[in-house]
Amino acid sequence: MATRNADARPAPTAEPLGSLDALARALRCLPGVGPRAAQRMALHLLQHDRPGARELAQALLRASEAVRHCDRCNTFTEDSVCALCRSGKRDPAQLCVVETPADLVTVEQTHAYDGLYFVLMGRLSPLDGIGPKEIRLDRLIRRATDGVVREVILATNFTSEGEATAHYIAELLAARGLAVSRLARGVPVGGELEYVDAGTLAQALRDRRWVAAPPGGAGNG
Ligand SMILES: [Zn+2]
Repeated sequence: MATRNADARPAPTAEPLGSLDALARALRCLPGVGPRAAQRMALHLLQHDRPGARELAQALLRASEAVRHCDRCNTFTEDSVCALCRSGKRDPAQLCVVETPADLVTVEQTHAYDGLYFVLMGRLSPLDGIGPKEIRLDRLIRRATDGVVREVILATNFTSEGEATAHYIAELLAARGLAVSRLARGVPVGGELEYVDAGTLAQALRDRRWVAAPPGGAGNG
């Protein structure tokens, strides 16, 4: 990992940091928490909620020791293989690739998918030095080429990095003879065309699908 916090280290002082300062510094590892918010949190915990502070400390310790990555799908689990991968009710021929465990949960909440998953735990981001090795795409290739998976559904984000990641994975997997699909983009449920942005509407046109098949068999576009 890069030493991105190198500049944030305090200058050497004569005294070691007090435990209050140390707590505030530790809280800054949370996303979106700057120095002032971290200090407010630290003071709040010590002033108003010491039992909560102890519970938080124990939960952090337990989770950081117990939570690991599933050997099959790479999501967080406390077992070697997660409950979803162990389930006999899922279709093992479909593999949905998402960026994060939160994305997996979001897709699960649709109840519209009964295949399995692979969680990248990131996305390609060349500018940040995150390439195929850093997100361990070799593991995805091994997983997808197990002989059981028939279709890989790319459900990375529709950001430029998510799109680039999907494109890269699609080429890798197609070269290995796998069918690869990408989530469609389109008009939101309940959306009125007048209020849909032009980019989304353009994608919806490109990704349109047949409602009535044309004579002589369906084609696309
Ligand atoms: Zn799993």
